[in-house]
Amino acid sequence: MTLLDSTVDDSVFTQHESDVRSYCRSWPTVFNRASGSWLTDVSGRQYLDFFAGAGALNYGHNNPLMKSALIDYISDDGITHGLDMATVAKGRFIEAFTSTVLEPRGLDYKIQFPGPTGTNAVEAALKLARKVTGRESIISFTNAFHGMTLGSLSVTGNSMKRAGAGVPLVHATPMPFDNYFGGVMEDFAWFERVLDDSGSGLNRPAAVIVETVQGEGGVNVARAEWLRALADLCRRRDILLIVDDVQMGCGRTGAFFSFEEAGITPDIVTLSKSISGYGLPLALTLFRPDLDVWTPGEHNGTFRGNNPAFVTATAAIENYWRDDVLAQDVLAKGDRIHEAFTELGNRFDGLSTRGRGMVRGLVFDEATAAGKVCASAFEAGLLAETSGPSDEVVKLLPPLTISHEDLNTGLEILTDSVKEVIG
Ligand code: PMP
Repeated sequence: MTLLDSTVDDSVFTQHESDVRSYCRSWPTVFNRASGSWLTDVSGRQYLDFFAGAGALNYGHNNPLMKSALIDYISDDGITHGLDMATVAKGRFIEAFTSTVLEPRGLDYKIQFPGPTGTNAVEAALKLARKVTGRESIISFTNAFHGMTLGSLSVTGNSMKRAGAGVPLVHATPMPFDNYFGGVMEDFAWFERVLDDSGSGLNRPAAVIVETVQGEGGVNVARAEWLRALADLCRRRDILLIVDDVQMGCGRTGAFFSFEEAGITPDIVTLSKSISGYGLPLALTLFRPDLDVWTPGEHNGTFRGNNPAFVTATAAIENYWRDDVLAQDVLAKGDRIHEAFTELGNRFDGLSTRGRGMVRGLVFDEATAAGKVCASAFEAGLLAETSGPSDEVVKLLPPLTISHEDLNTGLEILTDSVKEVIG
């Protein structure tokens, strides 16, 4: 019997693990194995995964192309923990990322490896922007999500998450995200006005931080022209533009970076989640070379060099980003999801859809319906989660590598769940 076949009583979690746990409440079973787009629980039941580790598993679970590279590396006694020492695994990753991802896109960025989570990448970005400009204020957007540490929380919108901080969250000012006023207010009218008005009370900002599609905030899509206008505003006003691509990067919207479609070049970019390709923790903060004002060790961390993650990240880049086959496939599958969701929207009142590429939301006027749909989908063997300020959106993040057949199977389950809940 292997470890994976041993039994685990649910009371282990309910009695000993903190009440802070969350996803296990939405999906109340004990999982043991996973492959591609499927998870298996201890009873042998299979679940189709339309959440993909909140976007950390864009290439599916245990992708064989990365698994073999990882197993070979470990068997060979490759470095596992290396602080930020120079290692072959890190060097190979930097080479692959630079030559296959950055250079073909004309992007000239220095690469910082902060701690291995998304919020670490955001903290590094905020600190760097403040150090470069000597200013402390950051502009964020309504319904933004950037992470749970204090700096990232200060630029995050969700009131429940913010309340968890227990201290004032300062030096950040929210501005309306695209379409916040349903098109009745001119884009950036308020932002430009308060920047111009010496009596507005807004301190001159160091940077703007933005998601091109707000994942946690309810799958809110910024239009390309809105992003271009934002980039233009930042350039004119000498404000640094940070794109947080932690959830929408690595192909989620089609292209490797979610801002490519808009044709903008951010000053700073954050990546994490799917950058390792295998669900292993890894994060990157990318920035214009002239912004590299760090002194050695000024931003530090024990787990910055996750070498097994470098190995799988290199395999992901080499297998999926040397051409645009995956990017095109993402657009095609995204269209398929959009088609299915549009059909549902036409059939049922109080239902609409929004998204880009393979991040799609099914938006319910009656907010509680979204959670009920996810609960019903789970009963039928599908993992999906809600997002948005009132959890009113069923958010779909299937693995980008999912087969068309599995995608259709999952969409059928969701359709049945919607019928059951609001039909
Ligand atoms: N930024 C964005 C856009 C995210 O979606 C997330 C996580 N959902 C984070 C930052 C924080 O990442 P992590 O949970 O790895 O700290």
